[in-house]
Amino acid sequence: TGTVVREGMTLISRKETPDRRESEVLQKRRSADGAGSIVVAPLVYSGRVIGTLTAIRSIERDDYTEDEAALLTAMANQSAVAIEQARLRDATRAALTEMQALHAVSEALTKVTDPDDLLRVLAEVVSIALEADRVFIVLTDLEKEAITRTGFSGPDDPPDAEMQFSELWEGLGGWAIRHRQTTVARDAADPRLVAASTKPGAGPILAVPLLYRGKPLGAVLAENPPGAAPFDTRAIRLGSAMAGQISAAMAHALLFEATQRLAATDELTGIHNRRRLFDLAEHEFRSAVRYRRPLSAAMIDLDNFKSVNDSFGHAVGDEVLVEVVRRCAGVIRDSDVFGRYGGEEFAIVLPETGHVAATALAERLRQHIAAEPVLTSAGPIPVTVSIGVAELTPEISEFHTLLDHADAALFLAKHRGRNRVAVG
Ligand code: GH3
Ligand code: MG
Ligand code: MG
Repeated sequence: TGTVVREGMTLISRKETPDRRESEVLQKRRSADGAGSIVVAPLVYSGRVIGTLTAIRSIERDDYTEDEAALLTAMANQSAVAIEQARLRDATRAALTEMQALHAVSEALTKVTDPDDLLRVLAEVVSIALEADRVFIVLTDLEKEAITRTGFSGPDDPPDAEMQFSELWEGLGGWAIRHRQTTVARDAADPRLVAASTKPGAGPILAVPLLYRGKPLGAVLAENPPGAAPFDTRAIRLGSAMAGQISAAMAHALLFEATQRLAATDELTGIHNRRRLFDLAEHEFRSAVRYRRPLSAAMIDLDNFKSVNDSFGHAVGDEVLVEVVRRCAGVIRDSDVFGRYGGEEFAIVLPETGHVAATALAERLRQHIAAEPVLTSAGPIPVTVSIGVAELTPEISEFHTLLDHADAALFLAKHRGRNRVAVG
């Protein structure tokens, strides 16, 4: 081959032996194999030798002629071009699937806003892109040393036991997060895995840190079964390239979720704010009307609350509001929509509930609130509420009309002396 690289096509004829260009070992082998004349031509592509073409003729036949050698040389050149083009095609195909993978991540970003859904979709995309059997995306809170969320994609269900923070941190994921570097382990014998409680006989693992604006968010862990080929440089490159997008997508989804939650929550009491209350209530109202199901609404108003503020201050009034909400939440069902209507007034929408059951619930609420004074920083304060209840009737076609009826009943309850329930 050295001669071929230096001098180009080489023709060794049987008669010429011993040929100076042929080693003694090769000569012996050639005669043992019954080989005669040999043509070795370089595979040259863009002036670079990428291999050789060797043609061997049996000892019984005539030597290769110069013409035949020239023909083989021409074929070698053709082959070199074909081989290089095939290689380029593979490289292009790989680049294409990388682009497709990155594209799939941004697709997921635009279509999925729920962080848990997004985690699952991204895990799926990663598992396809890296040809990984199982993929975990793990989000962490390093200060609390906790795993906050995980997304999983694999042929089986996600593992029953949730991954522990220590398991992640002492394993390859922790290494990747600490070193801010994508890394691979061939198998469980990797020293970085020995400390972790990795299942015995684990296969190749790839760990990619997720960083958003320099802050660690978590890691992507891709696993293949024991005995599978280790993740290659392409997988490492692709994993790292996807990590940036995954991090940005996750950070945005988490921020969006937090914003949504804040925008829908009453700051003081933590229950639905007026806007969210109406959104959810309208939804329940429409489905009750459509399916002709019972629905009731209750309006709750604290009695003489102004005097609490006047006597003990607004902050203590706030403590009372929080405790009243806590007591209400302890009585109502999960399916009930409970929100702050405004000030010291709250509304409950009760799906699948007629006025008899709604009134009974309201009465339980009233008694529960009146039963014990609220313990505040200014001492115990007795608190009572009045509640107005109204039921959906065929004449009511708008949610706010139902609320008006509940409000009218509340007015009645106040008029009758407070600390009571009235039905409109
Ligand atoms: P009634 O039995 O007729 O309902 O008497 P009331 O004093 O409760 O009625 P009113 O509507 O006159 O007073 C409501 C008071 O609730 C006035 C307002 O200062 C107070 N309030 C409203 N929102 C808040 C709040 O977020 N915190 C506190 N501390 N007080 C609030
Ligand atoms: Mg009021
Ligand atoms: Mg009041």
